[in-house]
Amino acid sequence: MNLDGINILITAGPTREMWDSVRFLTNLSSGKLGYSIAREALKRGASVTIVSGTGEKLEKPGKSINTVSAIDMFEAVKKEFVRCDIFIASAAVCDFRPEKADGKIKKREGTPEIKLLPNPDILKWAGETKAGRVITGFTLEDDCSREAALEKMKEKNCDIMIANTPSNFGKDSRSFLLLSRGESEFFKDVSLAETAYIILEKCLKIKNSY
Ligand code: C5P
Repeated sequence: MNLDGINILITAGPTREMWDSVRFLTNLSSGKLGYSIAREALKRGASVTIVSGTGEKLEKPGKSINTVSAIDMFEAVKKEFVRCDIFIASAAVCDFRPEKADGKIKKREGTPEIKLLPNPDILKWAGETKAGRVITGFTLEDDCSREAALEKMKEKNCDIMIANTPSNFGKDSRSFLLLSRGESEFFKDVSLAETAYIILEKCLKIKNSY
């Protein structure tokens, strides 16, 4: 698979949503799959940008943009999206952010009530702004059915949807269901590098069919 001249934008890792100046909400995402896709794509000649909440840097010539919150990640994606041919949304974006207090909340003032606000849905925005790009999304549920994944693929206007369960978090091998264009395939205990290869090859196949 040769990816020379192809521009790939990837989101990876968790977002962190501050509820005061030092405390935040987040999730268990390691970002491993996103970085594995980025490295596989680099190896095959693509131009790669990763927007990530992990703080990890991608080797040159890869470009890394480190973000904290979902709003930061969304701003970075909006800037980079125009240049990409393939968008892969592997980040575990927090669906909600707390209404942030000024400064650090004092314990002696009692248990705070934290109001949650919805975060922008980056993948949904990408699906609406698609214009010929190949878009891959992920879905993570305790019991992810094929029907639910198909519905999400339609709702977010993705070409590919990968259905995962939380048991994959942080693992070096993954089991997942891959849906694309009427096809569905289940992969069991596949290494991260192989998972990256499978996803990139599927993206390229769809890009070449446009
Ligand atoms: O709707 P749900 O969170 O299950 O969708 C998961 C997919 O959407 C993932 O690909 C994730 O990266 C992306 N997503 C996003 N922005 C959000 C929530 C999810 O890009 N606010």
